[in-house]
Amino acid sequence: MSKADTSCKNCGICCKKGGPALHIKDGFLFEENILQVQDVVTIRTGELVRDDMKNRLIPIPNELIKISPSEGSRPDDWTCRFLTSNKRCFLHGKHPAECRAFYCKEPEALMQLTNEERLDREKICKLINAPDWWLELINTHEEMVAYGKLAEWAIKIDQEDECRTKFIEALEYDRSLRELVVQKEAAPKEVLGFLFGRPLMQTMIMFGLQARQSGDGIRIVKMAD
Ligand code: SF4
Repeated sequence: MSKADTSCKNCGICCKKGGPALHIKDGFLFEENILQVQDVVTIRTGELVRDDMKNRLIPIPNELIKISPSEGSRPDDWTCRFLTSNKRCFLHGKHPAECRAFYCKEPEALMQLTNEERLDREKICKLINAPDWWLELINTHEEMVAYGKLAEWAIKIDQEDECRTKFIEALEYDRSLRELVVQKEAAPKEVLGFLFGRPLMQTMIMFGLQARQSGDGIRIVKMAD
């Protein structure tokens, strides 16, 4: 019987579903400047992600760092920024551990990696000798707009004015901190996705909410089911 062909066909489908989450063993990519923080986005603790097995959104227990889509991609397009137009990996030979482990016809190898320690913002800041204030900014932002708190306010947004007010304050804080960081040149605009994750204005859709800007400020509306 002939041996099954287990080689990657470079169809690019897995890379279109999203870049990999990064593990400790990928740290060298930052040390060798193959990856930069501009290339990644933080998925913050408590952010809702789709569990394909259960076909529902679940909050992630710990933050993870993913290779981000290209600048200007549509919010629902998670194609890895390193996928080239001819469906090759721009990092080929130095691609992250999950990409090396994953083979679409045998996804079990990837499952084994899920128990291995992942990179987070603190570890990456150390690897790249980021300025001390980056971690201070990250922690302050996390305290003010933790997804756990946002989820609680989101549930009661129609019943309790206080929850609505707190949610709006968090939205304004998230937006103004990003603007301030760039204005004061504490970090370049391209690094905001690493420092603070995706803007709350964008991610609040996971709570079934949308923000509308009016003359009186931000108004929150529920999305139609
Ligand atoms: S790093 Fe390369 S192999 Fe991994 S998802 Fe991106 S394009 Fe695909």
